[in-house]
Amino acid sequence: ERKKSRRYENAKKAMAFDEHDKVLFPRTDLKQFPRYQQAVRTVAKLKKHIAERRRDNLHKLTTRLVKDYDTIAVENLSVKNMMKNHHLSASIANASWGTLISQLKYKCAWYGKRLIIIDPKNTSRICHECKQKNHEFDSLSQSEWLAAREWDCPNCHAHLDRDVNAAKNILAKGLETLA
Ligand SMILES: [Zn+2]
Repeated sequence: ERKKSRRYENAKKAMAFDEHDKVLFPRTDLKQFPRYQQAVRTVAKLKKHIAERRRDNLHKLTTRLVKDYDTIAVENLSVKNMMKNHHLSASIANASWGTLISQLKYKCAWYGKRLIIIDPKNTSRICHECKQKNHEFDSLSQSEWLAAREWDCPNCHAHLDRDVNAAKNILAKGLETLA
């Protein structure tokens, strides 16, 4: 991307010089800059490879999960959080999460496994040990909240890993729907 934008700037500059110097055949089109065009092709190729590898990894992961487990509980995509988040990486992560869930859906159907999709509400804020919601999180900004990877429960003082705690809550919530 850096090289592409450098080539782009150079081409723009060359076109401006051509115009300014009133050369006989001024270059006016980016198509006339092979080095820029090559950079465009290279960036497109690399992006395609990255997308293919991501899709491939997602397939490997979902196949393994469905083969290894009879019941899988996952959080549904939170539309509210998605709207709130304008960061590119977050929107890519959201898109991947949607793909992951749709793959789990049809693969669970293939293999006769059970998929439970639960509402993500508060799964990261409730302590799985004592089931109390941590209200210290209420005052945090979005970025402070996302940065909180580990926390201590103000109620029972358990030391919790954010993702592991959320996963346990998701599983418990999922299993409740079966009872
Ligand atoms: Zn607790």
